[in-house]
Amino acid sequence: MAHGFETRAIHAGQEPDPHTGAVITPIYQTSTFAQDGVGGLRAGYEYSRTANPTRTAFEECLASLEGGARAVAYSSGMAASDAVLRVLTEPGAHIVIPDDAYGGTFRLVDKVLAHWGIDYTPVRLSDLDAVRAALTDKTSLIWCETPTNPLLGIADLTGLAGLARSAGAKLVVDNTFATPYLQSPLELGADVVVHSTTKYLGGHSDVVGGAAITGDEELAEQLFFMRNAAGSAPGPFDSWLTLRGVKTLAVRMERHCANAEEIARLLVDHPKVGTVYYPGLPGHPGHEIAAKQMRAFGAMVSFTHVDGAEAARELCGRTKLFTLAESLGGIESLIEHPAAMTHASVSGSALEVPADLVRLSVGIERVEDLVEDLHSALR
Ligand code: PLP
Repeated sequence: MAHGFETRAIHAGQEPDPHTGAVITPIYQTSTFAQDGVGGLRAGYEYSRTANPTRTAFEECLASLEGGARAVAYSSGMAASDAVLRVLTEPGAHIVIPDDAYGGTFRLVDKVLAHWGIDYTPVRLSDLDAVRAALTDKTSLIWCETPTNPLLGIADLTGLAGLARSAGAKLVVDNTFATPYLQSPLELGADVVVHSTTKYLGGHSDVVGGAAITGDEELAEQLFFMRNAAGSAPGPFDSWLTLRGVKTLAVRMERHCANAEEIARLLVDHPKVGTVYYPGLPGHPGHEIAAKQMRAFGAMVSFTHVDGAEAARELCGRTKLFTLAESLGGIESLIEHPAAMTHASVSGSALEVPADLVRLSVGIERVEDLVEDLHSALR
């Protein structure tokens, strides 16, 4: 019988070291590997840009958790996205992106790939008819985030996979917000999963990284080739830190989600709060689909301030436990103002986010303390 998620997080790709018995995968902090005669590789490793045993352990673990054949790790989430976009497109191709994609993904598509002849259409991915209408005979991929950053929109992965297949396109899912503990896009028909491992997978806000996971060996080989050619691999220590984070993903996510549900409930009833964006709320337009394709609703919560943009900005500076900072997915709670911070790069575009929006990354502190902190800041 296949082992459960929590067991694979701790054991997949991670046998005790055969030479020393070290229970934890060592940090192979080396750039190169001695050869026994020209081409005589002892364990298949020759140079750490190409492959490194610490990174391999992390990749095998992640492939197992996402239910893929192979994972390819990168030095950042954006490096992973860039590699996947370049492997799956060519000049003249068209792609569909979410109309509230992560700002950095939009910037990559709009400011970098567009110059190489990649055409794109931003679409509300929760609307399958709109996605169908956007597909052309040149569409090579649909890029999906679900839940989205920062508006927590939900897309139907099975529906999107069907549309992609019928158009001869690939479905790529950025699974950063959900993590493999809450959502398994490959099982639902996606071709590739992308992560900013900087977030929940690393989980401790101490390392930047990314990964792409696929069930398609040929595509994995192309990604592996591209990473070696372009040199976007993470170092051994960053791979080790992320692998260490992954071991506790399941227990952290349980607590993250429970805390977020409670925070969302507090916000819904608060007179200073307008709309609350959280897929766990029964009134959220994507609630039913989220309940079907996710094991819980995640720990990102966004909301608007009834007094407008300035009040939203000021609120972000008033919390004490929720630290005002970019990023998300760490054990500590964070607060931010997307329009001026994480999503400043989409300002003036079709993806512009509301200026009165506040985004929370709910951490795993004692929830009563978090509630109290928000209550006093929302005074
Ligand atoms: N995808 C999502 C959903 C993100 O939130 C981020 C970063 O915030 C990225 C990708 C990019 O990841 P990184 O910052 O590790 O390059």
